[in-house]
Amino acid sequence: MQDCLFCRIVRGEIPAAKVYEDEEVLAFRDIQPQRPVHVLVIPKRHITSLAHATEADIPVLGRMLAVANQIAVDQGSTDGFRSIINTGRVGGQEVMHVHMHIVGGQEPVGPML
Ligand code: AMP
Repeated sequence: MQDCLFCRIVRGEIPAAKVYEDEEVLAFRDIQPQRPVHVLVIPKRHITSLAHATEADIPVLGRMLAVANQIAVDQGSTDGFRSIINTGRVGGQEVMHVHMHIVGGQEPVGPML
């Protein structure tokens, strides 16, 4: 997607503090962190939201989950983390490219972000 913010980060057109990358997934620090550890994990290929995901997206969505713990540990959240995917207007999604927030640190993150 030409104008999608996170697609532009994937293409290197906008800088980001990358913390993990493989052939399908990219992770970078949230620009407005809510906790000491706040990373966004995204599919490199554009998927607008979970409401737009198809069968073909199952492997990359699974990969996002599978890499989350190692990213959290690498960033210093060694005793757990919260993973959040906001979807659509009611879900409070602001950037229309699927992303999973990994939120943590050394204190419990509480019931809400
Ligand atoms: P959401 O409300 O789930 O769509 O969250 C979007 C997140 O993207 C917010 O936490 C923003 O702080 C974050 N964000 C927006 N622009 C950037 C950027 N250029 N680099 C890193 N994070 C960003």
